[in-house]
Amino acid sequence: MQVHPYNARTFILREDLCATFEAPFIYLLVGSTKALLIDTGDVADPTQMPLASTLMHLLTAAGSAELPWLVVHTHRHLDHRAGDGQFAHLPNVQVVGFDLDSVRRFYNFSDWPNGLAQIDLGDRTVDVIPTPGHNETEVSFYDRNTGLFFFGDFLMPARLLVDNARAYLTSAETVAAFVRDRPVTFVLGGHIEMNSSGELFPWESQYHPHERVLEMTKDDLLALPAALRNFNGFYTHSGNFILIDSMRILIVCAGLAGVILIALVWILVRYLRRRSRARRLRPATQG
Ligand SMILES: [Zn+2]
Repeated sequence: MQVHPYNARTFILREDLCATFEAPFIYLLVGSTKALLIDTGDVADPTQMPLASTLMHLLTAAGSAELPWLVVHTHRHLDHRAGDGQFAHLPNVQVVGFDLDSVRRFYNFSDWPNGLAQIDLGDRTVDVIPTPGHNETEVSFYDRNTGLFFFGDFLMPARLLVDNARAYLTSAETVAAFVRDRPVTFVLGGHIEMNSSGELFPWESQYHPHERVLEMTKDDLLALPAALRNFNGFYTHSGNFILIDSMRILIVCAGLAGVILIALVWILVRYLRRRSRARRLRPATQG
């Protein structure tokens, strides 16, 4: 596990590529009364990925070992919550559920996906914004102290997998409006799948030569709605964004494969019928 201290109370963690091709990012924000962990990564086994003990060391070093922890998720996909089990039996840790009901209830979103919630960490407030589109449970976190904006798979230098294009666009417009009058230092997402030239690594690759830096910018946030408006519904490379609806591509490919299969069977049946007819006719023509 890689640990990068952004400052004395903000840590960027990443699970190693050799442990998981997802190599997801995890974020730790420490306030004066509470510590916040955003996502728990793709690896459950603490001997392979000692997430909880790493956090314990970081908090102890920051003089905050006694603080209660709050563990939240950007969204419910397994690569962002597989480490939850490491916190299950720890005292003083609250793990927020990852299903939509739990998310809505915890943040008090009565009109999902509208609304804005806050997490009070003590002298540090984090705004929580519903951002469904990649996944229906997705939320994003804006840290007022640092101006860092944390996204899971909603915005990152990687394939932006679109589950619901209309929801994605609405979320992007909401976020763009939110940041218009606020400082954004860096936009930090859940994965990196590109090299420094903006080319994608092969899917599930565990080798990332010349990997692009993690951070994106406020300009990227402001440009996202236009990119989503240009999305053709399947695959669109627009500026810094690569938008993909993999489910739709899969359905079309499966449909095409089905059509090709039916055509092949039809050709084969016709061929066999012709051959048997030719055989039946052969003795008569010989006589
Ligand atoms: Zn992910």
